[in-house]
Amino acid sequence: MKGNMLIQNGTIYLQKKEEVGDLRIKSGVISTIATGGGLEPNGEEVVIDATGLHLLPGAIDPHVHFRDPGQPEKEDLESGSRAAASGGITSFLDMPNNIPNAIDKKTIQNKLDIAAQKCVTHHGFFVGATKGNLADIQSVEGMTGVCGIKIFMGSSTGDLLVHEQGDLEKIFSNTGGIIAVHAEDENRLQERHRHFKDRTDIAAHAEYRDTECAMIATKRAVSLAEEHEHRLHIVHLTSAEEANWLPSRKGDLVTTEVCVQHLTFDDRDMEELGTRGLVNPPIRYEEDKEALWRRLHDGTIDCVVTDHAPHSLESKSVGYPGSPAGMPGVETSLPLMLTHAMNGRCKVRDVVRWMSEGPAKVYGMKNKGSLVEGNDGDLAIVDLDNWRTASDSETWTRVGWTPYDGMKLTGWPSYTVVDGEVIHLRGSNDGLKGQSIGLPGASGRAITFS
Ligand SMILES: [Zn+2]
Repeated sequence: MKGNMLIQNGTIYLQKKEEVGDLRIKSGVISTIATGGGLEPNGEEVVIDATGLHLLPGAIDPHVHFRDPGQPEKEDLESGSRAAASGGITSFLDMPNNIPNAIDKKTIQNKLDIAAQKCVTHHGFFVGATKGNLADIQSVEGMTGVCGIKIFMGSSTGDLLVHEQGDLEKIFSNTGGIIAVHAEDENRLQERHRHFKDRTDIAAHAEYRDTECAMIATKRAVSLAEEHEHRLHIVHLTSAEEANWLPSRKGDLVTTEVCVQHLTFDDRDMEELGTRGLVNPPIRYEEDKEALWRRLHDGTIDCVVTDHAPHSLESKSVGYPGSPAGMPGVETSLPLMLTHAMNGRCKVRDVVRWMSEGPAKVYGMKNKGSLVEGNDGDLAIVDLDNWRTASDSETWTRVGWTPYDGMKLTGWPSYTVVDGEVIHLRGSNDGLKGQSIGLPGASGRAITFS
């Protein structure tokens, strides 16, 4: 569905400046932006008074695991996209480690069909690489809704893994589009495992999956990209070493991202977080966190993502090392980054750059990522004065918890708008969760990638 809407008197984040004004969406597309205001309702549109609110382009999360098909007890494309919408995310890109894995035309089409029935937001899907599915990867190249190829170079959740040089070369030399790589070196992980297998303290995780694991794989992936002139996106950068090495090798070929949790937590938080904080690659150390912030600010890192990867608290309660790695994040990522902005870590404008413009540019999403006339009417209308405490009991994700439980955050979206229709509303009388307005399958589309 495509809506008509007039949003009046909000602070609009344009590409180079922010100004109070009105924004009109006609048939789902931003038709007029009037800085200074003055647009009168035409009687055929929903009118929103955004006095005191900030209009941001809808956030784009290019790294989520919504567990559909296969694990609806953790998440599915409906609960995941609702959770995303509640956090101001209007588009997401979903990873392929499902049951079954999304590794060929049939499994990809199945996810697109499920999404068309269940999603309330825009969506795109990665095709997963295996040792033997080159022809299958090629068969989905350029399909609407397919954003790129995902390679797990090191073992994580699921059984997708490609780490042998010959297999990697085959993929890099015979495919187009963008390859997104989980860069941890499998050989080093296996070799180190025996030294760490008896450790049950959570601090062992960052020691086991150390910076060197990440660095080896990141260097290998960048070399492959250069050798085969293939677009490469390194997912969830975590270490100072990688972040400080990348500027020398970044051209138009290589892009990267950082997760909000790696900008927010470090080893000092791990004891309290326990297995809730268990993610791959791990939460590292203060110097890593600070380097990631610096490299975000200097443009080395292109976007901020969640790697939303829900697991039940029951499975997390097993303890380290038996607990699965991964945490939910889509409903808190934008408020968390806006909270960092309010605390002086960055500007609201930077958050827009890292969570909207950046991902749209990295993946070549048509008409998305910024508030300009002619772009899709996708917005997060946020309240920077509404400080609320995140809590397990007020979450949309099916696993019912958040690693930010107990943290006071601001910038919660009052309205999330997709194609000119409100899909999530958080009124002043609503609880923190707000109201999910979007009907499954009625809003959001498979994204076109260039
Ligand atoms: Zn991931």
